[in-house]
Amino acid sequence: MRCPYCSHDETQVAETRESDEGDVVRRRRRCLKCDKRFTTYERAEMAFPSVVKKSGARVDFEVSIEQIDAAIERIQDKLIGTGLREVPSTRVGELVMRELKRLDKVAYVRFASVYRSFEDVDEFSRLIKDI
Ligand SMILES: [Zn+2]
Repeated sequence: MRCPYCSHDETQVAETRESDEGDVVRRRRRCLKCDKRFTTYERAEMAFPSVVKKSGARVDFEVSIEQIDAAIERIQDKLIGTGLREVPSTRVGELVMRELKRLDKVAYVRFASVYRSFEDVDEFSRLIKDI
């Protein structure tokens, strides 16, 4: 790891710490030439496999980790924002459905059809029309 101040390529790790979630390693480094200190962050690079469609065509996985993280964050914010100590699972389900609707229409329809356990075809077609 090259020093960002003087570009010297020998640095020493002074301290290593894991984030609370354990997904990021933070290292405090010291340059052996100019003695300045800096921090580096190490995280796993997640590579999704290509998706092979029925036709044999290969496409990239369309939903990014950032989009999923953002969706989960919005759900958490809304639940925390209620200020309640308990929420019914139906409320969580509704929030998940709302996020899925934005991310992936097909996943939304699949989730909704199981979650809402549609009683009849009309109810299902109303949901389809809605998107
Ligand atoms: Zn340096």
